[in-house]
Amino acid sequence: MNFAQVIGQYYTKESLIQSVQKGRIPHAQLFLGKTGWGGLPLALAYAKYISCLNRTETDSCGECSSCRKYATFTHPDLHFSFPFPREKGEKSSEIIGEWRNAILDNPYMGILQWMQVLDAEKKQANIPLAECREISKSLSLKPFESEFKILLMWLPEYLGKEGNSLLKLIEEPPPNTIFLLVAENPDKILGTIISRTQSVRLKPIEEEALYDFLIKNEKLEEEKARRISTISQGDYTLLTDLLTETESPYFELLKAWMSICVRKSMPEIVAWSEHLGGFSKENLKGFLLYSIEILRGVVVFPHAEEIIPWAGRERVFIENFNKLTYSINDMELIVKNIEMALSNIERNGRVPLVLTDLSYVIARNLKK
Ligand SMILES: [Zn+2]
Repeated sequence: MNFAQVIGQYYTKESLIQSVQKGRIPHAQLFLGKTGWGGLPLALAYAKYISCLNRTETDSCGECSSCRKYATFTHPDLHFSFPFPREKGEKSSEIIGEWRNAILDNPYMGILQWMQVLDAEKKQANIPLAECREISKSLSLKPFESEFKILLMWLPEYLGKEGNSLLKLIEEPPPNTIFLLVAENPDKILGTIISRTQSVRLKPIEEEALYDFLIKNEKLEEEKARRISTISQGDYTLLTDLLTETESPYFELLKAWMSICVRKSMPEIVAWSEHLGGFSKENLKGFLLYSIEILRGVVVFPHAEEIIPWAGRERVFIENFNKLTYSINDMELIVKNIEMALSNIERNGRVPLVLTDLSYVIARNLKK
């Protein structure tokens, strides 16, 4: 993983590169941000850059002996730690092969995808005590080949109290040791760990970077690339969800939902909400974001038809749907309520319940 392969995040890349060039690499850093913003790929590219023997102003060389080992994540001075279920063993090193393959395949993966790789979707994952001991042991050795030993810990949220055994190590690390922690949710990390690390706070990926990625790597047409890069809101995970929904079944789903709301039939609303409760969280989020963007189109349409990014069936839908709303205010209210439902679902609200309430509000604000 080179910096060039990390999508967007220009500002963070630059400041990480500067830290290496000025010889001021903080010894413990915590990358914070949604999985889909790319904390893990950034940390991987950073570690490679730190270790590269022939780095350029902007990236690792890709050819030196260090880079070659980093290409398969098998450099002896790069240590990984990550959550895994008890059934898989006591230490990360026991499933390092699976881990390497998984991050080679998709460095933007989230915990759910990782658990799928391990065939353990329903199991609890954590970073156990034996693993913490192992970390202390391997970091007490001198670096083998590089100037630095690097420990990359993915999702320290999964460290229990056991994590406290690492504190002294993070506070006074052995010489030439660097900790890179990649996390999503600071509320779930031991406060003692947060206070001993320097935060690298990520932002969503720049829309233009996602757009370029879709054009160059996915060979999408401009209009579709524009639409998907806008809807995915800087989140690569969401972007791939939207991509796999190629001829967006979201559209049919939205149409079905709105017809139910127009019919104002409570039993149908309840059944529909139960049905969507079976969706994966990411898929459901993708659908709600898609709905928000389309219905925003309905709000904007009467005033500024020309700025609507949709064509084809979506555009026809937007034109027709206008006739079913009483006023623009009602439509804005509907959009606002979908946004609220989305954030409720992100905070683990009960999906069928949230969707039933939401559909009820929508039904009330539409003509029959
Ligand atoms: Zn190199």
